[in-house]
Amino acid sequence: MTTITRAGESVMTGRALDAFGRHIHYLRVSLTDKCNLRCVYCMPEQMVFRPSEELLTDDELLLVLRAANLLGFDKYRLTGGEPTVRPNLAGIVARIAALPGTREIAMTTNGIRLAQLAGPLKEAGLRRVNVSLDSLDEAKFHRMTRWGHVRDVLAGIEAAEAVGMTPVKINCVVIRGFNEDDIVSLARLTYERDWQVRFLEVMPFADVAEFQQANIVTTREMIERIEAGLGALVELNDGKLDGEAKIYRLPGARGEIGFISPVSAPFCASCNRVRLTADGTLRLCLLKDGELDLKTPVRRGASADDLADLMRQAIWHKPWGHDLAHGVIPLNRIMSEIGG
Ligand code: SAM
Ligand code: SF4
Repeated sequence: MTTITRAGESVMTGRALDAFGRHIHYLRVSLTDKCNLRCVYCMPEQMVFRPSEELLTDDELLLVLRAANLLGFDKYRLTGGEPTVRPNLAGIVARIAALPGTREIAMTTNGIRLAQLAGPLKEAGLRRVNVSLDSLDEAKFHRMTRWGHVRDVLAGIEAAEAVGMTPVKINCVVIRGFNEDDIVSLARLTYERDWQVRFLEVMPFADVAEFQQANIVTTREMIERIEAGLGALVELNDGKLDGEAKIYRLPGARGEIGFISPVSAPFCASCNRVRLTADGTLRLCLLKDGELDLKTPVRRGASADDLADLMRQAIWHKPWGHDLAHGVIPLNRIMSEIGG
């Protein structure tokens, strides 16, 4: 049994609960705000990144993760920015894997550096990857990411599969005028490949919000397009979410198709996560600005126990959910500065 004694403190289990009774045990860890691409829906081409000294060092990061561990966090997803541009990535993964209580380490990546890194990362303890791939068409992919090549991403996916980081999940953000025509060919991949291809509604953030809101394609339209091209989708999992995605299969396909609909069908009720930004703040909700500064106490000598206390109290105040429907959007950071 869990006894709540004061703001968010559940003494019997040490678990982190919020005021709505959600058990928060999944931490998305942004390793850097930097990136080797410049996706149009994510950041401006002339993006200015934070100076390295503002980011948590490896030791500082591991101290915060030890604190998370004390609170019962057991799942970590490495993200960014682009996590594969962080120096010593495999070393960081190995240290997270060695924390008592770590059950799963996954990563979201653009896949560009994965062909080189899949082997060492798997050896270090990385279990799975989600790879972003917005189009199979070289020209469109390049237009969307500004700098990327599809062949590099496909090589990365193959390398991940070859070392057993499966099932691979593919993330495709659908943007009007850029790739809404490409989702049928991406969905078709599931006939041959054992992948979960997930289509995401674009979310609005700060300076990029105008573009994002003007060019959103809703899940309903995505489904209509795929069904018009490939026939009816069969709902899986009794319609329940798999993580954040509602999943389907094309009859006879090996893989699955998922839809992540934060704008048209928010999944806040089942949220079990918070985020650690690369500059050391605990962000309670992706789409709300509230954060807890952890870097200052870390640099003043706080222990893992001290940090765990601060985190537990902050998590108690995790907002119920986002308010996009009422026009409230995050203003203090864009997606790459939070960790998607
Ligand atoms: N760089 C890595 C990548 O692209 O996979 C990891 C970080 S990226 C911020 C994480 C995921 O968020 C990617 O799948 C990306 O496509 C998605 N993403 C970025 N901006 C988004 C937005 N405004 N709305 C929805 N998804 C977004
Ligand atoms: Fe970089 Fe990922 Fe943002 Fe694209 S979505 S610019 S790859 S952080």
